[in-house]
Amino acid sequence: MGAIEHITQATYLTAAALFIFSLRWLSTPKTARKGVLAGVLGMTLAIVGTALHPDIVSFKWIVLALIVGTAIGIPLAQVPLTAVPQRTALSHAFGGLAAGLVGTAKYMLWLRDGELTPFRTFAIVVEVLLGYLTFTGSLMAAGKLQEVLPTRPITYKNQNVLNFLLLAIAIGSGLYIVAYPTTWQLFPVVVVLSLLFGVLLILPIGGADMPTVISLLNSYAGLSAVAMGFVLENKLLITAGALDGSSGFILSVIMCRAMNRSFTNVLFGAFGQAAAVQAATEARTVKSATAQDVADILENSSSVVVIPGYGMAVAQAQHRVRELFDQLTRRGIECRFAIHPVAGRMPGHMNVLLAEAEIPYTALSEMDDINPDMPQVDVAIVVGANDVVNPAARHDKTSPIYGMPIINADKAKTVIAIKRSMNPGFAGIENELYYGDNCLMAFGDAKAVLGDIVKALSGDQGGH
Ligand code: NAP
Repeated sequence: MGAIEHITQATYLTAAALFIFSLRWLSTPKTARKGVLAGVLGMTLAIVGTALHPDIVSFKWIVLALIVGTAIGIPLAQVPLTAVPQRTALSHAFGGLAAGLVGTAKYMLWLRDGELTPFRTFAIVVEVLLGYLTFTGSLMAAGKLQEVLPTRPITYKNQNVLNFLLLAIAIGSGLYIVAYPTTWQLFPVVVVLSLLFGVLLILPIGGADMPTVISLLNSYAGLSAVAMGFVLENKLLITAGALDGSSGFILSVIMCRAMNRSFTNVLFGAFGQAAAVQAATEARTVKSATAQDVADILENSSSVVVIPGYGMAVAQAQHRVRELFDQLTRRGIECRFAIHPVAGRMPGHMNVLLAEAEIPYTALSEMDDINPDMPQVDVAIVVGANDVVNPAARHDKTSPIYGMPIINADKAKTVIAIKRSMNPGFAGIENELYYGDNCLMAFGDAKAVLGDIVKALSGDQGGH
């Protein structure tokens, strides 16, 4: 091994270690920034190490790709937090496309040079199949999340049977190429069917399930990178792909558990379709409260739990939440935050927003930790959360969210729900919490309503 090769291997080893640390650090808000930096450093080392490779005959295309990638990457990095799920889906789409293209190029090269072995062909087929299906699947997911494609599930008769048939033909053709590597005529069949399967796989899945599907596609992109690592005989790609594949898979499992759903239900359950019909139920009345009413109630309480949800992200109300937290703690009122694992639109969504507003981590409690305390809580303030506090999940067997663990906001002595209207949340269903005797609705944009409550509280303080 030459000196350069030693340096490359050393950069790869360091990069692999940095990727592992990155994942570890990303798992808690305190170290998340360090985790991002470690990931960036690892990826830079990986690129530099690879660029040193003596086989590189020209840097022309590499530099061009770096420029194009950077030009796409910079605006992508600046999307608002609410658009991060679709941005992530786009990154996976690019990853999948890259894997698919590398696999295709390698197949053609080795075919021309007569160097195809069954093992190499097997790795290429896996890479191409997963790469291309991740490409179109992730594009579809991003389109649904951005609502440029219809978000409701699109279903038709025998859909799953047809999809599996298609996948079976793609896999069958792939296996035939593995057995007879020079039957290049079947290669385009694998490519086209993989691209098509990606689209068809996502069609029946509703917008609400897209974040789970994205992390599953993340795991496919990772596996495709593993296969690419075998094709290119690059150990770092194998390691990074395996980390990507397993972390994506674990994340999907966590999300499914938090919604009490199975993978099959997410992928084939066409969730969100029946729910839309259910939305129109009988008209019941709710009690509404003004900001001053809420301020008065809060002043007479000793423990408050804020339950943030997707609406807080939409309204960008985290800074107002912080002001409320300051007002309450200043008065000696205990104020905690109850974080549901799938509140918002991606895992950790609420943590990121609350961290941005510099709310101390010690004030944050996970669902399982806070639920036993809820009956003793004086006021639960629900800020733009809906499904994650819907009591129907506990008892209504017909509800699409039945069995999903929820934060027991309804058990608090008083509930204040801040939202703009009586519109449902992501699951598209009514929430009986709002009709409870202990619940008051503070209608309006979360940022505005919280601002008024804070103003009322500080006004009251001035008057005393
Ligand atoms: P949600 O059920 O989607 O409800 C959000 C509520 O926020 C809506 O009812 C909406 O009511 C309100 N809202 C929207 N904009 C607002 C604004 N500017 N000001 C005040 N309120 C506003 O949200 P959630 O309780 O956080 O539940 C998350 C849902 O996403 C769950 O169904 C979960 O399963 C799903 N999901 C999450 C993830 C994840 O990783 N986090 C992954 C997959 C699925 P109005 O329109 O009346 O204002």
